[in-house]
Amino acid sequence: MSSKVFWGSPRQTQLDHKETLPAKLDLILEKLNLRERVKGHRVAIKMHLGINVGYSMVHPVFVRRVAQAVKEGGGRPFVTDLPHSVADAYTRGYTAETLGCPLYPSTGIDEKWYIVHPYDYRNVKEFHIGGAIEEATFLIDLAHVKGHPACSFGAVIKNLALGCMDGQTRSAMHDVSHYEPYFFKDKCPDEATRVAIRESCPYGAIVDDKEDPDSLHLHYFKCNQCMRCQEVANGALAIKRSNFMAFSEVNNLAAKLVLDTFEPGNAVFINLATHMTPVCDCFGFTGLPVLPDAGIFGSDDIVATEMATLDALAKTSIIEENLPGMMEIVTREGHPWQWIHGPYKDPYEQLELAEQIGLGSREYELIDVLPVKEPDFKQIAYIQAAPSS
Ligand code: SF4
Repeated sequence: MSSKVFWGSPRQTQLDHKETLPAKLDLILEKLNLRERVKGHRVAIKMHLGINVGYSMVHPVFVRRVAQAVKEGGGRPFVTDLPHSVADAYTRGYTAETLGCPLYPSTGIDEKWYIVHPYDYRNVKEFHIGGAIEEATFLIDLAHVKGHPACSFGAVIKNLALGCMDGQTRSAMHDVSHYEPYFFKDKCPDEATRVAIRESCPYGAIVDDKEDPDSLHLHYFKCNQCMRCQEVANGALAIKRSNFMAFSEVNNLAAKLVLDTFEPGNAVFINLATHMTPVCDCFGFTGLPVLPDAGIFGSDDIVATEMATLDALAKTSIIEENLPGMMEIVTREGHPWQWIHGPYKDPYEQLELAEQIGLGSREYELIDVLPVKEPDFKQIAYIQAAPSS
């Protein structure tokens, strides 16, 4: 079934604030009937508030409008994120005064406030969902869209999947890519071969295994599947798609568990696709944007929100001159996020898997909340400048 996704284009016709993204966010909130839905609810506005000196997350101007709409509808909003991001959020402009609502750490001050959800996926046996999320009765998933080193793309799904869990669960989720064996000692004849494999990677993705000196450990988030290592590995190191996609899959499962704690219909999803950096806001800094701004996408369907965002970005290209020097384009196949993070970090496959577990629909109807009107300029008859004497 097709889901509605409301879209605010980053383009304007007139030089008028009513055509800019904060005003289009207001229109999206109206289309989502947010005010009518939040009366009496304790509303969690789940965000990533960034770390250190990052400044490309969702700007307080947008958050304040969301909080204001909730209050106008009779809801009680609060902004929430992981404790370490909330603790110094004021240094990045997020305070109760600027946002118009309080900020609470999702898992408590010391990550001890959570509810255990048993679920068996690879090495993960249980997911610990933050108490602030569990106590909320309505969810606004307000995400900044950006690249991600482990799965190529981060937005509304990842904002819930990792951002609502305690540290122990987040750590286990990051380890799912190591569950299926990928280093085979019996195919690595000696230390010289092991060193050659390790040194073949220009990104430092292959390191000695701390727990076994005869083995190698692969940092999946650093690997863009350039396959240089495969020329010397002779089967000792496998670069397998399934290991990369495991991280995307566990994100889907975690997001589903979070959403299952809310009554059906008590969640909305908003992607802000502006200043999209190649890696996530956890890096604690903001570099140059590597894709053109694509606007705001809002829906009741988390998968449709991601799909509409990805499709819009698929019509663009990586801004190559803005890439950090240590990143390279390894393919021009697939989605632009795969160009820099590699073909095995496939954001469309993640959404296919998400649909299979009932997270939402990849089919959507995109509704532009304020279409740009192209002006009808008259042809100008240029007057030839007189030659200088
Ligand atoms: S595929 Fe490329 S990036 Fe990945 S570990 Fe091998 S050399 Fe490094």
